[in-house]
Amino acid sequence: MRKALWLLTALCLLLTGCAAGEEAEELTVVFFNVGKADAILLYTDEAAALIDAGENGDGKELAEAIRERGVERLDLMVITHFDKDHVGGADKILERVEVERVLEPDYAKDSKQYRQYREALEEAGVEAEALAGNVEFSLGGCDFAIDVANEDDYGEGEENDFSLVVRLAYGDVRFLFAGDAEDARLAELLDEGGLRSDVLKAPHHGRYGEMSAAFFQAVSPEYAVITSAEDDLEDPETVRALEMTGARVLLTREGTVELISDGQRVWLAEQSAAR
Ligand SMILES: [Zn+2]
Repeated sequence: MRKALWLLTALCLLLTGCAAGEEAEELTVVFFNVGKADAILLYTDEAAALIDAGENGDGKELAEAIRERGVERLDLMVITHFDKDHVGGADKILERVEVERVLEPDYAKDSKQYRQYREALEEAGVEAEALAGNVEFSLGGCDFAIDVANEDDYGEGEENDFSLVVRLAYGDVRFLFAGDAEDARLAELLDEGGLRSDVLKAPHHGRYGEMSAAFFQAVSPEYAVITSAEDDLEDPETVRALEMTGARVLLTREGTVELISDGQRVWLAEQSAAR
């Protein structure tokens, strides 16, 4: 009898153990409302990452918003490229949040925001890794693949095409963050293939170009997020082309967008004007 009781207890423990183990862990992806600029926070219970850091004036507030979510440390910060609406707030974030690893594209820029970012890296004792080739790694249950530009030169004013493009798989759910990639770069990505994703951070704040429709078709996302601003709207053709693929289009200018995934599906958690 006592043995039977012990077995029963053991079985119960095993079952509760299993049930706890099956509890779905979640990935939260927050596209902050920072005007025509990118700042995207991703976190699970295990790790956190930030893709881009908004404008100069956003850094302090972003650092606070990150901390408010219980994220004390960023295991990864990706700066897609050095335009002020992507690298601008990075210095303030580096001053306020511990950052473990920083990835950036392999070029330099002469701008105030870039210099402040470099100084903040030095101050924080972080050596950014300038990516010369594509990289893949796992972090906090997410599989990252970061694509670098194929060319060294995209012509005058085409720095956007140097954007690091971040692909992320969390279980069966795929995310694609396209930075400010424009036509030449979108053509490269289309050549490389494998773009199909559940969530797309639409490239270049919703600007519509020659390659946009083909690119959106190849990605065919369930959700597409555009980081445009009230005073610098996304192109209506972009919204139309995305909706043609069946995507639900979300605009950060209407409020911070928060998506949650359990590794099997992804859903919209909240969209509010509050940062
Ligand atoms: Zn931009």
